[in-house]
Amino acid sequence: MCYTLFGNYYVDGGLINLVRPVLNYSLTHGATTKYGHEVTQVIPGNGKYKTITTKGEFTSRFVISGIPLNNTQMLFDSPTIKKKLQKYILSSEQLNGAFTMSLVLKKHQQLPVLHHQLHVSGGLPVIGSKSIFISFSHPSDTLRAPEGEQVASISTHIAHPQHKFIHDKQVIEKAILDRLEQEGLVLPEKIISFQSATPGAWQFWTGRAYGAVGGYPQYNHIKPWQMKDARLDHKGAYVCGDTVYPGQGIVGVCLSGIIAYRKLMQDHF
Ligand SMILES: Cc1cc2nc3c(=O)[nH]c(=O)nc-3n(C[C@H](O)[C@H](O)[C@H](O)COP(=O)(O)OP(=O)(O)OC[C@H]3O[C@@H](n4cnc5c(N)ncnc54)[C@H](O)[C@@H]3O)c2cc1C
Repeated sequence: MCYTLFGNYYVDGGLINLVRPVLNYSLTHGATTKYGHEVTQVIPGNGKYKTITTKGEFTSRFVISGIPLNNTQMLFDSPTIKKKLQKYILSSEQLNGAFTMSLVLKKHQQLPVLHHQLHVSGGLPVIGSKSIFISFSHPSDTLRAPEGEQVASISTHIAHPQHKFIHDKQVIEKAILDRLEQEGLVLPEKIISFQSATPGAWQFWTGRAYGAVGGYPQYNHIKPWQMKDARLDHKGAYVCGDTVYPGQGIVGVCLSGIIAYRKLMQDHF
């Protein structure tokens, strides 16, 4: 369940176009999506769940949490569930946040490879990360960037994100751009604009505990079958996402969602 050594597929327009078909399928099959409803509490009782959000309340027979276990544990108003989850919870020290940069570039016609990992000997300033990932949009993808332009997404890990509040992004940005120039991957004169984000931004925009991203990392001391499975209370609450078996990354998240669905169907229908 790790990243494979197969070639990559490219989705025109970016990752949102992996999500849209699923969303459209759900909507045409009677689903409703509520945007901007932050769940603040889930109260189990009488075989049902009351979900309280910043914009209203819902009562349902089932509830599936797709947010990190750290957040799920805080939301459920049930000492039994909180206690049960405790043995699976990883702390900030065991997790990673990300420093990310988005670049808009003048189109680079001769780019044989879109995805690169660069090693940084001595580590990046402030965050100490020793490698940088960069992915370019496909030169023929005019959904992602207009003709004549190309975008690039950069990310690098930040260990123990709760511990590292970043005040000076410019120093890190400069070190990353210098390293990219050194490899001839991004030349300063090709940059139209860029912006960067720290774990603080991830925490603000996604609500994920500590701004930790990417999911629960694989550790030698945690066997895959020791990760949290989909059943939360064996009544009607289920969990999925990158902190639940099989964990990390989009492939793992999709599989954990499929497992939660199958277990729910098997348990109740
Ligand atoms: C920079 C970066 C690079 C990555 N690169 C790769 C890669 O190359 N390949 C790969 O496979 N994976 C990659 N990943 C990991 C992958 O993106 C994640 O593991 C995956 O998106 C997690 O999906 P998820 O559904 O579990 O969680 P999320 O995508 O975090 O979804 C949870 C959703 O719940 C919402 N939410 C949180 N709290 C609440 C609340 N209280 N009420 C309502 N909604 C709430 C959040 O806003 C969010 O929309 C990368 C991640 C990052 C950050």
